[in-house]
Amino acid sequence: MDKRAELKKLEEEIAADFHLPLESNLVFGEGNPDCDVIFIGEAPGLHEDIQKRPFVGRSGQLLRKNIRELGWKEEDVYITNIVKRRPPENRDPLPGEINAYKPYLTRQIEIINPKVIVTLGRFSMNYFLPTAKITRDQGKLFRAGKWYVAPILHPSAALRGNEMMKMFQESFKKIPAMIKKVETFNEEIEDTSPPPKESSQKNLF
Ligand code: URA
Repeated sequence: MDKRAELKKLEEEIAADFHLPLESNLVFGEGNPDCDVIFIGEAPGLHEDIQKRPFVGRSGQLLRKNIRELGWKEEDVYITNIVKRRPPENRDPLPGEINAYKPYLTRQIEIINPKVIVTLGRFSMNYFLPTAKITRDQGKLFRAGKWYVAPILHPSAALRGNEMMKMFQESFKKIPAMIKKVETFNEEIEDTSPPPKESSQKNLF
């Protein structure tokens, strides 16, 4: 089965899983499953719930603008969230909600198999890197199990002030170089030299 068909099947499974918490529309994710980078946010908001698409509100516009400014097309990357339905009043997702959607997110990432996972904000970062701190660790590249994870600020945080916006944009610009770096690690692995140490908190960039 090709990646798109596998993702479609996964989306149908989530839609049919009535044990999952939250009752709003399913916002599964979108983009190119053959991408190098997957962007993972927290949970859909009001606009995402209405349109059933991730990151289409104000913070989504900022995310998508920064993607285009790298010279990429939005459709060339993949965009999703750790929790696939909107929490009431946009409250933070609860640990039980994050856990309930976890097996599905795990499979979604496995199917896409990205070179780099860019986490947007604290919740998504701590999902992969439980002890990381957003202001200390955003803009760095980590290995988390089998994945390379680059935490950056949530675009909604960037919209709160100039300093945060600068931090967000500077980290965003590092993403292409991070992909190149990971490609060299992967080449090393294919060359049978030892893979980089599997440490969830080792900065690699
Ligand atoms: N914030 C998120 O974390 N995800 C979205 O899809 C929209 C806003």
